[in-house]
Amino acid sequence: MNEKTIIVESGRCSWGKCIYCSFSKKPDVSEASYKRLKDNLDYNLSDDSKIDTLKYFNSGSFLDEKQIPKSFRIYLLEKCNKIGVKNLIFECLPEHVNEKVLKELQKSRKTVHVTFALGLEVADDIVLKKINKGFTVDVYKKTAVLLKKYGFGVRTYLMVNLPYVSNIKKSLETSVNLALSLSESIAVINTYPYGYSPLYKLWLDDKWHPLDKKQFDSVCSQYKNNNKIELFFDDFITYPKFPDFLKEKIKGATSRCLNHPNFNVWQEYLERFYKKPTSKEYLLFLPCAFRKPYSRSSSHKKIIERLHGIPNYQKIHQIMISTPGVIPRELETKYPFESYDWPEWEETSAVKKEYTTVTQKRIVDYLSCHKYKKIFCYFKPESESYLALKNACLYLKLPLYSLLDEKMYKEIKDMNKGEKLNSPLTQRRLLDAFSKKLRDMI
Ligand code: SF4
Repeated sequence: MNEKTIIVESGRCSWGKCIYCSFSKKPDVSEASYKRLKDNLDYNLSDDSKIDTLKYFNSGSFLDEKQIPKSFRIYLLEKCNKIGVKNLIFECLPEHVNEKVLKELQKSRKTVHVTFALGLEVADDIVLKKINKGFTVDVYKKTAVLLKKYGFGVRTYLMVNLPYVSNIKKSLETSVNLALSLSESIAVINTYPYGYSPLYKLWLDDKWHPLDKKQFDSVCSQYKNNNKIELFFDDFITYPKFPDFLKEKIKGATSRCLNHPNFNVWQEYLERFYKKPTSKEYLLFLPCAFRKPYSRSSSHKKIIERLHGIPNYQKIHQIMISTPGVIPRELETKYPFESYDWPEWEETSAVKKEYTTVTQKRIVDYLSCHKYKKIFCYFKPESESYLALKNACLYLKLPLYSLLDEKMYKEIKDMNKGEKLNSPLTQRRLLDAFSKKLRDMI
């Protein structure tokens, strides 16, 4: 079966209130016009395309004429008929489904089987109200029956782990049973928070958390062999993308900054959803730098230059340890990793202690989920990050290889006594020893 999915921006959804929906709240959604939609369709679907099933998703409801002009609706159906598409699926809110519009669609559909994807999400009126879905279970049922009466297919979308659901498994079972009785197929989707949605704020406020793969599989295990049900755990999972109105410069050496929710959701993402690049076999923990992104600082430039000289450089995963927690090099430009300052000179001994405890836990959480052949590090021996890292590896019984020649480091410090040595770690002799040790060990 040849399947194609086309996703288009078609202006703002006229409902726009579902609390898990980010798309409808984005400030910059392109408006649709017949010409733009037609050009996009022709670009994606040439006349000689061999497509059995076309999924056509717009940012809202396909039958909402404020979003999709009626003329384009007809054009899409004609095109499907012309090139032999067997099944066409689009999404629609029940409020746009009525006998008049279905009769019109009946005339244009000819050979293509048209299926409506209805986002019921959960068969529970109390939850539907709380998530601002805008319709009830009864409305869903009546819509599905009406669609069947006119010979249209029904595909029902359900969401697992919506907020306000008390028993996730039981709620899903109720929803699946209802949807099975009224639909040809069901898509079960893991609820995930996106930047502009109110759900994202619930996540930041520690009031709701997404399910990870293991939890999702456990909740959905009984449906995995049902050929009417498709399970989608991670199709839409992404790193935490903060909208501008939630971006805050996090500044200060305080407990509030250390435990900032914008750091916490990132650490949760890295622990539960992030997949490390497959080529990275060795882990190298590095200190942060005051300049952001770190790789623009003179100390990181020198370290990176040395790493480039290591034959297996591409296999080394550089991860910084700092106030936000652990920060993989490839993510250092993302907010808030490029938007915080931790002035060390403001640290109190209580904050230093808390930093070590919090950071140790974050490292333990990361290393418990991501495996490497060897773990290296390059820190000043007296740093709190190093202490947290040593404790974390000790706790997990993981060998940790420090690339710092401590004897040489002490000599350099002693030689410069009384003078301010900005970056002792980037002294040439120490970097020579760092590269040699790393080269010998990988
Ligand atoms: S109906 Fe769909 S597009 Fe509109 S707000 Fe709800 S989820 Fe978003």
